[in-house]
Amino acid sequence: MKKIAVAYGDGIGPEIMEAVLKIMKAAGAELEYETVKIGKEVYLSGQESGIDPSAWDTFRETGVFLKSPITTPQGGGYKSLNVTIRKTLGLFANVRPVKAYTPYVHSHFPTMDVVVVRENEEDLYAGIEHRQTSEVFQCLKLVSRPGSEAIIRYAFEYAKANGRKKVTCMSKDNIMKMSDGMFHQTFNEVAKEYPEIEAEHWIIDIGSALLADQPERFDVVVTLNLYGDIISDITAQVAGSVGLGGSSNVGENFAMFEAIHGSAPDIAGKDIANPSGLLNGACMMLVHLGQAEVAAKIQNALMVTLEDGIHTGDIYTEGSSKQKVGTQAFADAVIERL
Ligand code: NAD
Repeated sequence: MKKIAVAYGDGIGPEIMEAVLKIMKAAGAELEYETVKIGKEVYLSGQESGIDPSAWDTFRETGVFLKSPITTPQGGGYKSLNVTIRKTLGLFANVRPVKAYTPYVHSHFPTMDVVVVRENEEDLYAGIEHRQTSEVFQCLKLVSRPGSEAIIRYAFEYAKANGRKKVTCMSKDNIMKMSDGMFHQTFNEVAKEYPEIEAEHWIIDIGSALLADQPERFDVVVTLNLYGDIISDITAQVAGSVGLGGSSNVGENFAMFEAIHGSAPDIAGKDIANPSGLLNGACMMLVHLGQAEVAAKIQNALMVTLEDGIHTGDIYTEGSSKQKVGTQAFADAVIERL
């Protein structure tokens, strides 16, 4: 049995985690769970980071963390837990695959199949933000050559390992000529080592517009932290629902898996959230842990559930969907199809 760290999060977090753990158990995943305490309660108990100190021991012991979404206070309160965890544990790559489940889930882009590989530690998320005067605030963008090279190489290696044909770099090097310029330049250099994979570059603004309008033309996209954060939500949403995407955060010695979406406080506690995003993140984790057969079994069952028209509210379409179900009933439907 492999032990992993688990956090139930808040908002819709506990509901979707319950559903996902239930499905993994029924599918025969060989896992043990150690729950870690992170979030508002820990912060209110006086721990400024929002992370209970014992959680770090659990992270180091297990090396793998399945995390439900957590609300990040806006404009004050504790720092983003995600950012703290990514930086402390050196999770330099955030991988967000997005695929349309057409025709079972409505999407304008039936053949869309894009993986966003986002740099995860640097850029405007480096945490260098301060007040200059009472009216001027400064947030510094940090881009390093080793960080850029690591994420770009990761994207090409991912493409190679997963039979992908093209890697697209997106940056704003027409304006940020040194930082984004170096990222683009590094991309050109690393691309030469992978002649079998097509390499292209788009400026992030037109690149994002094309992703929203013609996502079929993209395969693997590699970009800086902030751009990657934004375009991965765009790709998830245009594929069908932000509720479907899972993601991995990978470092040398540790990996964290989660849903792309947040804690959705507007629908929390109602048993209506779609657990598929966290379930897809959990499947990426099972592959990482060498339990790829269990992951495939779950993904097939998820596909058949969607094919059978059993849909949560976010993807329910009058006419094509057959049954609108809540979170736990959706999980039970997946389990029936394992
Ligand atoms: P959100 O992703 O939580 O919600 C956006 C919209 O999508 C909402 O209407 C919500 O109801 C819907 N939605 C999201 N997930 C869904 C699901 N599984 N099923 C059905 N509908 C779903 O984004 P937000 O409202 O901007 O953020 C809420 C909080 O989550 C914020 O505090 C934010 O900082 C945090 N957040 C956390 C993470 C994380 O922990 N990884 C990621 C993103 C945002």
